[in-house]
Amino acid sequence: MTGRFETRRLHAGYEPEKHGHSPLVPIYQTAAFEMTDPNGRNPEGFVYSRVGNPTVAAFESRICDLAGGSTATAVASGMAAITDTLLNVAEGGGHIIAPNNIYGAGLDEMYYLLPKFGIKTDFVKDINDFSSVEALITPETKAIYTESVSNPSTAIADIEGLATLAHKHHLPLIVDNTFPTPYLFRPLEHGADIDVYSSTKGINGHGNVVSGIVIDGGHFDWNAERFPQFHEKELILPNADGKPQTFVDAFGNTAFGHRIRMKYVRLFGAVMSPFDAYLALLGIDTIAERLDKEVNNALKVAQYLTTNSHVTAVHYAGIHPEDPLVKKYFPKGVGTTFSFELAANEEQVDKLLLSTKIFTYLPNVGDSRSLIVNPRRVTHREVPLHLRDEQGLTANLVRLSIGLEAADDLIADLDQAITCSFS
Ligand SMILES: *Cc1c(COP(=O)(O)O)cnc(C)c1O
Repeated sequence: MTGRFETRRLHAGYEPEKHGHSPLVPIYQTAAFEMTDPNGRNPEGFVYSRVGNPTVAAFESRICDLAGGSTATAVASGMAAITDTLLNVAEGGGHIIAPNNIYGAGLDEMYYLLPKFGIKTDFVKDINDFSSVEALITPETKAIYTESVSNPSTAIADIEGLATLAHKHHLPLIVDNTFPTPYLFRPLEHGADIDVYSSTKGINGHGNVVSGIVIDGGHFDWNAERFPQFHEKELILPNADGKPQTFVDAFGNTAFGHRIRMKYVRLFGAVMSPFDAYLALLGIDTIAERLDKEVNNALKVAQYLTTNSHVTAVHYAGIHPEDPLVKKYFPKGVGTTFSFELAANEEQVDKLLLSTKIFTYLPNVGDSRSLIVNPRRVTHREVPLHLRDEQGLTANLVRLSIGLEAADDLIADLDQAITCSFS
């Protein structure tokens, strides 16, 4: 769809005249759809909701449009998006390169679980240290994986530089862009090949749905020997004469996205539900206004923290607009989540976490309500201790996710809670 982001977030990927002229996407709470020819097809393409559902398809099309992708596949969670993506790219065994400061459960999966499936990850301390990344590339390497903005330090990946490096070695760049959402940043416009999102977070923005989505930019050439899974003849992909085709034959540069749906969503089965897609679509209606206000609040809260004498550090790239990566990639703000360090012992931090009256102590981000958490013992507890130390996830580090409350109330709440923890 043409038009600006603010228009497309309300209209893209959906035609009301095909759905009883309902301006909102209806909930198709339906398991299977009537087939209209004996080969098991239906003119709209929906047969069974594990493979495709009209409400979920509208969510997919809308995010695909907003992210600038060519195909999108919604799944049951952000972790399902990551898992399906990594298995699809490195199926049968292979090697991934990633920074060591990625989302805790993602790191747990790549560090401990995926090696049992033959997929091994080398972690680097700084993904923008291109010579270290390049030195790790082997014939077994299948992808470079990164987050656009890290959690909770808000380190920014240089997506254009990484894409250039990846493409020089005929590798795809996979970016988890959950924190910025497509409103603040669109990795596919900067050379990334695949985006993954947890739409549990800022995309939906109301803390009421667990879901994820994979977006294929449709630029990468999967024809290389490195990716044999895209060159197998598939019974599920008959050509016009009924002969099996490969994913590359059938879909060219969008083979990745189609294969995620037809192999990993259809067979592993972690689908998004129609009701969750409906709620997430409702959340997207206000994504621009929510993020503008939350970014503004986050800047005010972070500025306040820099003036609090008990605070020894504030980790938020948003308060450094002069930083070249912030300037280049994040003119609308870096996001709504950041962290700070208190000159406190663990007991005092515990007191802080339990003394806030507006901030809720829970392990989520991107809610319209403000949230507080201690990463070392909660969100990153599955990260090996030496990596937690290396990333600065100390006992006195506190993460905030800033919501839509009045900034002055958030500041007053933190101020009283910090005073409380030191009394
Ligand atoms: C939350 C999150 C995930 C996982 O998403 P779920 O929906 O909880 O499975 C992945 N990546 C990032 C950056 C996240 O914040």
